[in-house]
Amino acid sequence: MDLRRCKRCLIYEMADKAAYESIKNYIDSLPAEEKSDESVYRSRLNVCKECDSLLSGMCRKCGCYVEVRAAGIKAHCPVEKW
Ligand code: SF4
Repeated sequence: MDLRRCKRCLIYEMADKAAYESIKNYIDSLPAEEKSDESVYRSRLNVCKECDSLLSGMCRKCGCYVEVRAAGIKAHCPVEKW
C-alpha cells in the first residue's frame, strides 16, 4: 500500500505522524463549545471513509482534511452526507 496517497485513509491511519500531530493539536485547541462530540466525530469520519471523494485524508469536494472538518460542531459535508 502506498501510504502517501491512500484512498479512503484518514491522516491518523497514514505514515505522516507529523501531519496527524498538527491536526490533533488544532482539534485539541478548539473551544469545547465549537467541537463535535466524540460519537458525532467518529460517525462523520466513518461516512468519509466510505466516500469516493476521500483521498489521503482530504475531501476532494472541499479540499479540507476531513479529520479537521468533522471536528467542528457546525461543520457539514459539502455534499450533505453528514
Ligand atoms: S466530507 Fe463529504 S464529500 Fe467529503 S469525503 Fe467526507 S463524506 Fe465525502
